[in-house]
Amino acid sequence: MSVEILDGKLFANEIQNEVKAEVEKMRKEGKIPGLGVVLVGNDPASQVYVKNKSEACANVGIFAETIRLPQDTTEEKLLEKIDELNKDNRFHGILVQLPLPKQIDEKRILERISPLKDVDGFHPLNVGRLTQGIPYLVPCTPAGIMEIFRRKNIELKGKEAVVIGRSDIVGKPMALLLLHSHATVTICHSRTLDLPSVSRRADILVVAIGKPEFVTAEYVKKGAVVIDVGINRVKLKEPIIGKDGKLKDSKLVGDVKFDEVKEIAGAITPVPGGVGPLTIAMLLLNTIKAAKTQITY
Ligand code: NDP
Repeated sequence: MSVEILDGKLFANEIQNEVKAEVEKMRKEGKIPGLGVVLVGNDPASQVYVKNKSEACANVGIFAETIRLPQDTTEEKLLEKIDELNKDNRFHGILVQLPLPKQIDEKRILERISPLKDVDGFHPLNVGRLTQGIPYLVPCTPAGIMEIFRRKNIELKGKEAVVIGRSDIVGKPMALLLLHSHATVTICHSRTLDLPSVSRRADILVVAIGKPEFVTAEYVKKGAVVIDVGINRVKLKEPIIGKDGKLKDSKLVGDVKFDEVKEIAGAITPVPGGVGPLTIAMLLLNTIKAAKTQITY
């Protein structure tokens, strides 16, 4: 049986079209969903992410504004800005692009965002709701992965699921979503002993560790569904000519050694073009969900 490549771009396009249709309906009723994106400093990767998010909003008719603050912004100044955005009814979603400069306590900032507007799903109230199985806004990356399972009719009930990585952004919420879908869930991390043998138990394997091509064939059971969350830029030994005709000296790889694992897996997400596009699509979905909750007329 050949492996199925799970095309994240395809699902992301489907979701974006669904969101677009929904926004059109909302706009006809005079309801314009809005997203405020706060970018502190000039981290090049963050700038690209923020630009992609704004463009995605524009494509589906969501009003988006990026608020740029200098690298030396104090925690107090950022808290003030968030208070302002919390009160501004043009914005139903607020997103603070991470990481923040080191003088700012990330947790304090994320707690200040109104839970109603917390489209990243990082506020303790939304985390608590997810834990209790009464989710409101769910972190976009794991929510996007659940969309892959749903849209591909991948059964989770009773399955062995292994999540490698226990971050608040991906690993933990992923494990909770799988648990609420009745999978038997194991969470692994850097102190897990004999990771390959734990990982080989998985019917569903989600890898979010940030280590290029770390998961090799010996970690994977035959026929497993492998979801690779990792996005790692690695330097090439020799430059190659990219699709755009330009010379490239680096490329993106996941946390899974794709060429090797695809020979064993039943289904696998590629990098790029797997989980990444879905993360943005879920941000759009969360924004209209937040808008519908807040616009009550
Ligand atoms: P973090 O660095 O916050 O967490 C990494 C986790 O992996 C930690 O729990 C860590 O364990 C665990 N880990 C690290 N090394 C090992 C190891 N050798 N064996 C087992 N576990 C290990 O990362 P994130 O969760 O934020 O991101 C993970 C990856 O996903 C990154 O490549 C990131 O770029 C990508 N990402 C992609 C997104 C997308 O849209 N596709 C969105 C978000 C992230 P411990 O807790 O013990 O330190």
